[in-house]
Amino acid sequence: MAKVRHLEKDSAINETDAAGTPALRKGPTGREETTVTGACLCGAVKFTLAGDPIRAGLCHCQDCRRASGSAFSMFLIWDRSAFACTGPTGVYEGRSFCSSCGSRVFSLRPEEAEIMAGALDRAPTGFTPGYELWTKRREHWLRPLRPAEQFEEDRS
Ligand SMILES: [Zn+2]
Ligand SMILES: [Zn+2]
Repeated sequence: MAKVRHLEKDSAINETDAAGTPALRKGPTGREETTVTGACLCGAVKFTLAGDPIRAGLCHCQDCRRASGSAFSMFLIWDRSAFACTGPTGVYEGRSFCSSCGSRVFSLRPEEAEIMAGALDRAPTGFTPGYELWTKRREHWLRPLRPAEQFEEDRS
C-alpha cells in the first residue's frame, strides 16, 4: 500500500519564502501592493490575491472538519475583486476544490473570496486569525487562541 508522504516537494519555493517577503507590485493607486499566491497540492489550480486579507479566522465546526479532513480549518477573507484563479475546479456546496488532486482551495461568494490558509504558498502564512468559531467543537487539547474573539458557534 502506498504511504502518503508528508514531505514538501517544492523546497525551492519554501526557501524563497523563508525570507517571509511577499511579492510586491504597484497597485492602481501607485503605491506598492502585496500579492499573495496559492495553489492546490498538484499545482493545477493556482490563484493570486491582491493586498492583505480583510480578516482571518479558525473554525472547528463539523462541516469544516469533514471538508478539510482535519480537526479545524484556518481561512482568510479577501474582497472578491482581489481574487484571480486559473485551473480546473469543482464545487461542492460552495466549497471549491481541485478537480485533479481534490485539495480544498477556496469558497467564492459574490462579495468575498474565502481562502483556505493551507492553500497559500507561504507557510507560515504570516497572518493571524482574529476570531475562532464553533469553539464547542474544538479538540480538548487545543487552547483558545488569544486574543482572538471566541464564538461557541457561528459569529452572531
Ligand atoms: Zn490539484
Ligand atoms: Zn466551519
